[in-house]
Amino acid sequence: MMPPNCALCRVPPQLSEFESKDFTLVYFRSTVTYPDDWAGHPENAEWFCPTHLPLTEGLTHLPALDAMRLITAKLRGTTDQGS
Ligand SMILES: [Zn+2]
Repeated sequence: MMPPNCALCRVPPQLSEFESKDFTLVYFRSTVTYPDDWAGHPENAEWFCPTHLPLTEGLTHLPALDAMRLITAKLRGTTDQGS
């Protein structure tokens, strides 16, 4: 399992203002079927820091790629206004 690293901040955990235990692994709709003994990082799961976790609300029924696209669009909409 990867160390927690927010999918949106992409700040190395040791530089983050949050501790590992503060991060939440969010599971989106799986688009890949894994063997039962597979132990890697699921492609449909992403870590989120407490700041960005609320942005995943209502999106976990989507595949991770679609959800991430919506989340980044939402973020851009609130930070790039007027440009
Ligand atoms: Zn974050």
